[in-house]
Amino acid sequence: MYNAKAYAAASATSRLAPYTIPRRDPTAHDVQIDILFCGICHSDLHHVRDEFASLMPTIYPIVPGHEIVGRVIKVGPAVTKFKPGDHVAVGCMVDSDGTCPSCQAGLEQFCPNMILTFNSPDKHLGGVTYGGYSESIVVDERFVLRVPANLDPAGAAPLQCAGITTYSPMRRWGVTQGKKVGVVGLGGLGHMGVKFAKAFGAHVVVFTTSPGKQEDALRLGADEAVVSRHADEMQKHIGSFDFILDTISADHDINAYINLLRLDGNLTLVGAPAKPLAVAAFGLLFGRRSLSGSLIGGIAETQEMLDFCGEHGITADVEVIKIQDINEAYERMLRSDVKYRFVIDMASLKA
Ligand code: NAP
Ligand code: ZN
Repeated sequence: MYNAKAYAAASATSRLAPYTIPRRDPTAHDVQIDILFCGICHSDLHHVRDEFASLMPTIYPIVPGHEIVGRVIKVGPAVTKFKPGDHVAVGCMVDSDGTCPSCQAGLEQFCPNMILTFNSPDKHLGGVTYGGYSESIVVDERFVLRVPANLDPAGAAPLQCAGITTYSPMRRWGVTQGKKVGVVGLGGLGHMGVKFAKAFGAHVVVFTTSPGKQEDALRLGADEAVVSRHADEMQKHIGSFDFILDTISADHDINAYINLLRLDGNLTLVGAPAKPLAVAAFGLLFGRRSLSGSLIGGIAETQEMLDFCGEHGITADVEVIKIQDINEAYERMLRSDVKYRFVIDMASLKA
């Protein structure tokens, strides 16, 4: 066991502050990673403030962070896929049972014994797992990903959550050339959704509450950008979408988007507002529309997504911050003022 510097919150109302955590020495199948960058996901904030209490109560102190990019510094004797010096990544999961039907199907995110990168039981050291707001992490090689060499490491960090969470449902629901696709909410997830939908050849429409983001939406690859508070602009799109990805982190009227779907259209929810959303039955009945959810993606698909990003030169648009500025970054994220993902430069933690 060794000590690592980290940032943690001591309670749902505490600011994040310096903290020291234990990390295990790598066992036979483990990879020890020196963390270079870690993205800031809105889920980090939900967890820190215990907003998922009904499903996953937060155990304090919490060290968030599941968009990790780093360099391998040590590997266990049985590790075959990685060696010291490799550029690697870790996302939202660090373990699963490997034997259940979900794991067998490459859907580790649905394994009943899946272990999240933070706030899950730590079977090695006891207590809970600690995430990427830290100088290093030790992870079983099955959950370590390879980062294409041409991708900027800071811009590649958010691919581990914002990237796979938008890539996976778009693949599943057949987002391809000729499809009309909506992306609701232009934040960390939303801006990656725009990039993927564009790369898959779809006609992409962004729905935003922030008029100041319209121009950016087009620059990111959208064909149209609609301010969702303008009823007349919304009206123009009624009944026209094949697929809509809803990334909003807070309470909102989901029916306004269900009504934009065409016959057999699908709206997939990836945003995780703490409060239940009210769904009007008729919006689904007329048009045989469907509403579904999606949770990150399996390890094989995450690697596929990273390789796709390597081939197409796709990374997140990031604002790199020092870890000392984390609390201000959280407040800006709550004000929808992120362009379009905060990423922590972990050198600031070591300084
Ligand atoms: P984010 O960067 O904060 O983006 C969320 C965006 O939603 C904002 O930029 C804003 O976009 C819009 N928004 C915020 N409050 C709103 C409101 N009251 N009404 C309407 N729109 C609002 O967050 P993120 O990191 O992308 O995460 C988004 C959500 O996805 C979070 O709930 C997070 O927990 C969840 N998540 C889910 C998964 C999964 O596996 N399903 C994975 C990661 C994250 P505009 O300014 O454009 O309106
Ligand atoms: Zn996330």
